[in-house]
Amino acid sequence: MDRTGLEPELGGALRQKYVYVDESTCIGCGHCAYVARNTFCLEEDYGRARVINQTGDSVSLIQEAIDTCPVDCIAWVNERELARLEELRKHQVITNMGLVGDNARRGHRATWNIDF
Ligand code: SF4
Repeated sequence: MDRTGLEPELGGALRQKYVYVDESTCIGCGHCAYVARNTFCLEEDYGRARVINQTGDSVSLIQEAIDTCPVDCIAWVNERELARLEELRKHQVITNMGLVGDNARRGHRATWNIDF
């Protein structure tokens, strides 16, 4: 059978690993959302990063985003772990990081607009 490019080893839609953000550890810096814009965003209510699309970017770009995280709170997990972690997240108490509105949605902090 011909290859489609969607095979997991090619970073396609049939990936066998998923990315997850530990929002209780995330400090809302936005680095991941800046690097892999189609995968991460800053969640609007609390200003923490969240995965919005597991196949939004290539594996290598997501790994690059993971590598930028200053608190190491993004991890690759398997499907079962992802389901368990997402269920646990529903019961987490997470404080607001102070990002609101459009800046949080786009994954930018207002301070990034400062000219040096
Ligand atoms: S890089 Fe890490 S700390 Fe920064 S927003 Fe993303 S997950 Fe949170």
